[in-house]
Amino acid sequence: MLNIIQLPVLENNYIFIIHEPESGETAVVDPAIAAPVLATLRQRQWSLKYILNTHHHWDHIGANVELKQVTGCQIAASAFDQQRIPGVDISLKEGDYVMLGALPLVIIDTPGHTLGHIAYYSAKASALFCGDTLFAMGCGRLFEGSAEQLWRSLQKFKALPKNTQVYCAHEYTQNNGYFALRVEPGNLSLQQRMTQVNKQRQQHLTTIPTTINAELATNPFFREDSIALQQYLNMQGKSSLAIFTALRRLKDSF
Ligand code: ZN
Ligand code: FE
Repeated sequence: MLNIIQLPVLENNYIFIIHEPESGETAVVDPAIAAPVLATLRQRQWSLKYILNTHHHWDHIGANVELKQVTGCQIAASAFDQQRIPGVDISLKEGDYVMLGALPLVIIDTPGHTLGHIAYYSAKASALFCGDTLFAMGCGRLFEGSAEQLWRSLQKFKALPKNTQVYCAHEYTQNNGYFALRVEPGNLSLQQRMTQVNKQRQQHLTTIPTTINAELATNPFFREDSIALQQYLNMQGKSSLAIFTALRRLKDSF
C-alpha cells in the first residue's frame, strides 16, 4: 500500500522516502541531505513528486532547494513556516491533506518542539510521520512551544489506532529508554523493550518505526497515568499536564 524506505543520515536522523505503487508517486519526508535521496530515486527509477517537511530545523529541510532544483518536485510545509522554510509551494494546516496517488496524507498540527510543527498521517497505510514531536520512548524538546502545547499535540497521537506505525525523525531510542527506566524502573514492558533495543543498537540496527501501542506501554510521556511514575515524581494524583511538564523538565537535564 505504501513502500517506505528509511535512510539513516547525519548523526542520528532518518529521511523517509514514501512510494505509492499504484500511482507510482513518491514523496520524501524531511530530507536533511540530498545525495542518498537522489541515489535511492535513481536506483528505484522513481521520480519525486513532493518534499514533505515537518518543521523548519535544518536537519529536516537541508536538501529542499537542491532536490527541488534537480527533480522539479513541490515542497509542502506548515503555513506557519512558509517564511522560514526555503522553496515552499504548498502551505498546510490542520486537516489539510497531500495526495500520494489515491492515498491522502492528513496534516496534524503538532506545535511544541517548534510552533509550526506538523505531522503527516495516513489512516489507510497506518503510518504517521511525526518529525521531532514523538520519539520512541521520548518526545521532542521544547524549542519554541510550551509544555502544554506539546502535551496537547501528543494527545492527538495517543488517540490514533494502536497499530499505527510511527516514523520519527531521529534514532534517540536507546538514550530515551535509559531515561524511561530511570523514572519507571518496574515497568516490565519497558525492561523487555530495552533488552531488545540494546541488542538492535549493538548491531547498529534501526529501532524505528515504533507503534502507538509500544509507546503507550513504555513511553513515560504517554504514561502520566502510571502510579509508579507518579510516585517516582512524588506527584500522586496530579494532572496529566503537570506530570508531563515535570517529566519534560527532568529529561532536559538527564
Ligand atoms: Zn527539530
Ligand atoms: Fe531534528
